[in-house]
Amino acid sequence: MITRHEYTHFQQRAAAMIREAGIRLTEAEAARIEVVDFGLSRVAVEGVQVFTLFATDRISAKVLVMLPNQTEPEHWHPPVGADPGKEETIRVIAGTLNFYVPGEDTLQHGWIPAGKEHCYTCRHEIVMQPCDQLTLPPNTKHWFQAPASGAVFYSFSTCVRDGLDRFSDPAIVRQTRIVEE
Ligand code: ZN
Repeated sequence: MITRHEYTHFQQRAAAMIREAGIRLTEAEAARIEVVDFGLSRVAVEGVQVFTLFATDRISAKVLVMLPNQTEPEHWHPPVGADPGKEETIRVIAGTLNFYVPGEDTLQHGWIPAGKEHCYTCRHEIVMQPCDQLTLPPNTKHWFQAPASGAVFYSFSTCVRDGLDRFSDPAIVRQTRIVEE
Protein backbone atom coordinates (compact mmCIF):
# COMPACT_ATOMS: atom_id res chain seq x y z
CA MET A 1 0.00 0.00 0.00
CA ILE A 2 1.27 3.42 -0.94
CA THR A 3 -0.35 6.84 -0.70
CA ARG A 4 -1.10 8.81 -3.86
CA HIS A 5 1.31 11.49 -2.63
CA GLU A 6 4.14 8.96 -2.19
CA TYR A 7 3.33 7.36 -5.54
CA THR A 8 3.65 10.68 -7.37
CA HIS A 9 6.82 11.53 -5.46
CA PHE A 10 8.52 8.27 -6.45
CA GLN A 11 7.30 8.66 -10.05
CA GLN A 12 8.88 12.12 -10.23
CA ARG A 13 12.17 10.95 -8.74
CA ALA A 14 12.30 8.10 -11.25
CA ALA A 15 11.51 10.42 -14.17
CA ALA A 16 14.31 12.77 -13.09
CA MET A 17 16.80 9.89 -12.91
CA ILE A 18 15.76 8.61 -16.35
CA ARG A 19 16.23 12.07 -17.83
CA GLU A 20 19.57 12.53 -16.07
CA ALA A 21 20.62 9.24 -17.65
CA GLY A 22 20.04 10.88 -21.04
CA ILE A 23 16.72 9.30 -21.99
CA ARG A 24 14.01 11.72 -22.99
CA LEU A 25 10.50 11.28 -21.62
CA THR A 26 7.38 13.29 -22.29
CA GLU A 27 5.35 14.46 -19.30
CA ALA A 28 2.63 11.99 -20.28
CA GLU A 29 5.20 9.20 -20.28
CA ALA A 30 6.58 10.28 -16.91
CA ALA A 31 3.05 10.02 -15.52
CA ARG A 32 2.91 6.40 -16.74
CA ILE A 33 5.91 5.28 -14.66
CA GLU A 34 4.74 2.48 -12.42
CA VAL A 35 5.82 2.49 -8.78
CA VAL A 36 5.82 -1.04 -7.39
CA ASP A 37 5.86 -1.72 -3.65
CA PHE A 38 5.19 -5.47 -3.92
CA GLY A 39 2.50 -5.05 -1.30
CA LEU A 40 5.18 -4.57 1.36
CA SER A 41 4.32 -0.90 1.99
CA ARG A 42 7.93 0.28 2.23
CA VAL A 43 8.76 1.15 -1.33
CA ALA A 44 11.94 3.09 -0.48
CA VAL A 45 13.44 -0.13 0.93
CA GLU A 46 11.88 -2.84 -1.26
CA GLY A 47 10.45 -1.56 -4.53
CA VAL A 48 11.10 -0.59 -8.13
CA GLN A 49 9.96 2.00 -10.67
CA VAL A 50 9.10 0.76 -14.15
CA PHE A 51 8.62 2.64 -17.38
CA THR A 52 7.28 0.30 -20.05
CA LEU A 53 8.34 1.40 -23.54
CA PHE A 54 6.19 -1.33 -25.06
CA ALA A 55 4.84 -4.76 -24.22
CA THR A 56 3.32 -6.89 -26.95
CA ASP A 57 2.14 -10.50 -26.69
CA ARG A 58 5.71 -11.62 -27.49
CA ILE A 59 8.31 -9.05 -26.39
CA SER A 60 8.75 -6.04 -24.16
CA ALA A 61 11.19 -3.23 -23.41
CA LYS A 62 11.28 -1.31 -20.17
CA VAL A 63 13.41 1.22 -18.38
CA LEU A 64 13.74 0.32 -14.71
CA VAL A 65 14.81 2.70 -11.98
CA MET A 66 16.20 1.69 -8.61
CA LEU A 67 16.35 4.64 -6.24
CA PRO A 68 19.40 4.90 -3.96
CA ASN A 69 19.52 1.91 -1.60
CA GLN A 70 16.35 0.34 -3.00
CA THR A 71 16.06 -3.45 -3.41
CA GLU A 72 13.86 -5.45 -5.78
CA PRO A 73 12.80 -8.61 -3.94
CA GLU A 74 13.99 -12.03 -5.07
CA HIS A 75 11.76 -13.60 -7.69
CA TRP A 76 11.73 -15.78 -10.76
CA HIS A 77 9.73 -16.08 -13.96
CA PRO A 78 8.25 -19.58 -14.10
CA PRO A 79 7.30 -21.58 -17.21
CA VAL A 80 3.78 -21.05 -18.53
CA GLY A 81 2.41 -23.91 -20.62
CA ALA A 82 4.84 -24.50 -23.51
CA ASP A 83 6.68 -21.22 -22.74
CA PRO A 84 9.81 -21.79 -20.62
CA GLY A 85 9.23 -18.48 -18.80
CA LYS A 86 10.42 -14.93 -19.32
CA GLU A 87 13.96 -14.51 -20.63
CA GLU A 88 15.34 -11.10 -19.82
CA THR A 89 18.36 -9.00 -20.78
CA ILE A 90 19.42 -6.20 -18.49
CA ARG A 91 21.66 -3.33 -19.63
CA VAL A 92 22.76 -0.63 -17.23
CA ILE A 93 22.42 2.95 -18.44
CA ALA A 94 23.44 4.91 -15.33
CA GLY A 95 24.53 4.22 -11.76
CA THR A 96 25.57 0.89 -10.28
CA LEU A 97 23.32 -2.15 -10.13
CA ASN A 98 24.16 -5.08 -7.88
CA PHE A 99 22.55 -8.17 -9.36
CA TYR A 100 22.17 -11.50 -7.53
CA VAL A 101 21.79 -14.95 -9.05
CA PRO A 102 22.24 -18.53 -7.80
CA GLY A 103 25.86 -19.65 -7.35
CA GLU A 104 28.83 -19.19 -5.08
CA ASP A 105 28.29 -16.67 -2.28
CA THR A 106 30.22 -13.57 -3.36
CA LEU A 107 27.95 -11.00 -1.71
CA GLN A 108 30.22 -8.15 -0.75
CA HIS A 109 28.91 -4.77 -1.89
CA GLY A 110 25.21 -5.28 -1.33
CA TRP A 111 23.11 -6.23 1.66
CA ILE A 112 20.01 -8.25 2.44
CA PRO A 113 17.20 -6.06 3.79
CA ALA A 114 17.18 -6.51 7.58
CA GLY A 115 15.11 -9.43 8.81
CA LYS A 116 14.56 -10.76 5.27
CA GLU A 117 17.48 -13.25 5.09
CA HIS A 118 15.11 -16.15 4.30
CA CYS A 119 13.57 -14.21 1.40
CA TYR A 120 16.87 -13.58 -0.41
CA THR A 121 18.56 -16.90 -1.17
CA CYS A 122 20.77 -15.83 -4.13
CA ARG A 123 24.13 -14.57 -2.88
CA HIS A 124 26.17 -14.59 -6.09
CA GLU A 125 26.89 -10.92 -6.72
CA ILE A 126 27.40 -9.30 -10.12
CA VAL A 127 28.28 -5.62 -9.88
CA MET A 128 27.03 -3.90 -13.02
CA GLN A 129 28.11 -0.49 -14.29
CA PRO A 130 26.86 1.49 -17.30
CA CYS A 131 27.12 -0.54 -20.55
CA ASP A 132 27.31 -3.83 -18.62
CA GLN A 133 24.61 -6.26 -19.60
CA LEU A 134 23.52 -9.76 -18.74
CA THR A 135 20.93 -12.19 -20.00
CA LEU A 136 18.99 -14.09 -17.41
CA PRO A 137 17.65 -17.52 -18.42
CA PRO A 138 13.97 -18.27 -17.72
CA ASN A 139 12.95 -19.68 -14.33
CA THR A 140 16.14 -18.44 -12.60
CA LYS A 141 15.90 -16.78 -9.19
CA HIS A 142 17.28 -13.25 -9.02
CA TRP A 143 17.09 -10.01 -7.10
CA PHE A 144 18.84 -6.69 -7.46
CA GLN A 145 19.73 -3.58 -5.59
CA ALA A 146 21.16 -0.12 -6.18
CA PRO A 147 23.69 1.37 -3.77
CA ALA A 148 23.69 5.11 -3.02
CA SER A 149 24.17 5.89 -6.75
CA GLY A 150 20.75 4.51 -7.68
CA ALA A 151 20.50 2.81 -11.08
CA VAL A 152 18.72 3.22 -14.39
CA PHE A 153 18.71 0.25 -16.72
CA TYR A 154 16.96 -1.35 -19.68
CA SER A 155 15.10 -4.61 -19.43
CA PHE A 156 14.41 -6.34 -22.73
CA SER A 157 12.42 -9.51 -22.42
CA THR A 158 10.08 -12.03 -23.86
CA CYS A 159 6.42 -11.54 -23.04
CA VAL A 160 5.67 -10.20 -19.59
CA ARG A 161 3.25 -11.91 -17.24
CA ASP A 162 4.08 -10.06 -14.05
CA GLY A 163 1.07 -11.56 -12.35
CA LEU A 164 2.67 -15.01 -12.61
CA ASP A 165 6.09 -14.05 -11.21
CA ARG A 166 7.04 -16.01 -8.13
CA PHE A 167 8.64 -14.42 -5.08
CA SER A 168 10.69 -15.89 -2.23
CA ASP A 169 8.92 -13.59 0.25
CA PRO A 170 5.44 -15.01 0.98
CA ALA A 171 4.26 -11.53 2.06
CA ILE A 172 4.53 -10.19 -1.50
CA VAL A 173 1.57 -9.21 -3.65
CA ARG A 174 2.52 -7.98 -7.12
CA GLN A 175 -0.33 -5.51 -7.39
CA THR A 176 0.47 -2.13 -5.82
CA ARG A 177 -2.46 -0.64 -3.91
CA ILE A 178 -2.64 3.15 -4.02
CA VAL A 179 -4.48 4.91 -1.23
CA GLU A 180 -6.11 8.24 -2.05
CA GLU A 181 -5.74 10.74 0.77
ZN1 ZN B 1 12.88 -10.56 -13.03
